[in-house]
Parts: sequence; C-alpha cells; structure tokens
Amino acid sequence: MAFVEVKQVSKIYGHRASLVHALNQVSFTIDKGEFVGIMGPSGAGKTTLLNVMSTIDQPSSGQVLLNGENVSRLHDQQLAEFRRQQLGFIFQDFNLLDALTVRENLILPLSLDKTAYTVIQTRLQHIAQILGLEQLLDRYPNELSIGQKQRVACGRAIITAPELLFADEPTGSLDSKSATELLQYLSQLNDTDQTTIMMVTHDAFTASYCKRILFIKDGQIFAELIRQGDRKQF
Ligand code: ADP
Ligand code: ADP
Repeated sequence: MAFVEVKQVSKIYGHRASLVHALNQVSFTIDKGEFVGIMGPSGAGKTTLLNVMSTIDQPSSGQVLLNGENVSRLHDQQLAEFRRQQLGFIFQDFNLLDALTVRENLILPLSLDKTAYTVIQTRLQHIAQILGLEQLLDRYPNELSIGQKQRVACGRAIITAPELLFADEPTGSLDSKSATELLQYLSQLNDTDQTTIMMVTHDAFTASYCKRILFIKDGQIFAELIRQGDRKQF
C-alpha cells in the first residue's frame, strides 16, 4: 500500500466572482522512503499542494491519505496528535519562536507530547550534534545567522523522528554552503531512517537532491522525473 495517497484533490480559493483553481484534480502516490520534489513556476500551486498534503490546509474536494489515515476525517485533537507523532514541517521563514532559546525551540514538539525528560535530553544532544548546534543552545533566534536558524528549524522538525517530512523552499533563504549542508543532511535522513520527504522548491540545485520530481503548472501535475541510481556529484 502506498505511504501517501493524493486522490483527485482540488483546491479552489475565493468566491463566485474571482475563483482561483489552485489545484485541479491532482492524483499521485508516494511510497515509504521516497524523497520527492515539487517544482513549477510561481503560482503553479506548489505551496497549496504541500499545505493540503501536510494537513495545514483542507482540499476543496478529493482525499489525502497519510500512512493509511484519511486525514480529513480526523477531528482537531486527533489531527494535532497525528501531526505531532508522524509529521515534521520545515518552513521557508523558519517559524521559530523568538522568545524561546534554541534549546527550547528544539524540544518544543517533545514537550507538547509529554515525552520523558531523559528521552528529551538524549534526543536533544543527538540532534544538536548532527546539526552542529551544540554551541548555540542557549542563544535566541535573533542572535543566529540565517543558516543557523534554518538548522534549528530543521532540528525541531525532525526531533520527533517523523515518518514524513514536509519542506517548503527549505533552502530559499540560505547561502549555497548552508543549503548544501541542509540538503546533505536531509538526504542522509532519507537514506538511513527511511524518512519520507516531500519538498517544494523552484531551485534546480535543491531539486537535484530529490529522487523523484513532480512538475506542476496551473494546478496540475504535467510531468514527472525519476532519478536512476545515485545522485552524481561533480
Ligand atoms: P506556488 O506555491 O506554486 O507559487 P501557490 O500554491 O502559492 O503557488 O498558489 C497557487 C494559486 O493559488 C495562485 O494563483 C495563488 O495566487 C492562489 N492562492 C494561494 N493561496 C491563496 C489564498 N489563501 N487565497 C487566494 N488565492 C490563493
Ligand atoms: P509561495 O510563493 O512560497 O508559494 P506566496 O508568496 O505565493 O508563497 O504565498 C504566501 C502566502 O500567501 C500563502 O499562505 C498563500 O496561501 C497566500 N496567498 C498567495 N496568493 C494569495 C492570494 N492571491 N490571495 C490571498 N492569499 C494568497
């Protein structure tokens, strides 16, 4: 069974006079462990597709099944729990809480889930080490560079070890070195933990890390590329 199923999904914004068909009858499936990119011109529906898939937004019609769960059938509280347990999100603008330290931002998803203190500390050390955040744990977001902020956002997204990670332009505000590091890290997570990743990007370099790319235009998928073998590094 597919890990993610998008079935005949449409999304319409606006009212009678000015309707925008942001997604038009989109269907596809994703298997566990895939690293999928969504590419397309501005206004194509990329963010809408990611939001509808990641339960941030509801489709106007059609269904999204994540790990066999029809997420539109879940009540608010069930949905919140499902998100915390199975999904991770990395946003372009980081969404870090400015009043909290890096440490507090990182462990936030675990504190909400009432995870045991010792488990939280172990996970925090591990995440901080692999993302190079050990020296930054007591700083506040406004004391960090953009690349550091994105690493914290990434750490917060994966500290719960989500089955499914959604990322909207995760390298959009990063310099080339930070972008490469983040992408190598995501690839590693995908390879070693079988984390399924769905990433929106309009950047070819970023997309080159995906194993499969869906091309979207005018709210419809019009092409798909599947990488054969390993990514060739020049
Ligand atoms: P992309 O991410 O590919 O740039 P979006 O998914 O953001 O595209 O937008 C797809 C279309 O839907 C665009 O025409 C956009 O203006 C429109 N749209 C997106 N969000 C909204 C909204 N909240 N209200 C009205 N129109 C929207
Ligand atoms: P992106 O290019 O990353 O998809 P946008 O700048 O298009 O992002 O959209 C940013 C936010 O504004 C999103 O939450 C989107 O839903 C909303 N939005 C986009 N287009 C419209 C629109 N025409 N009317 C209202 N909200 C919109």
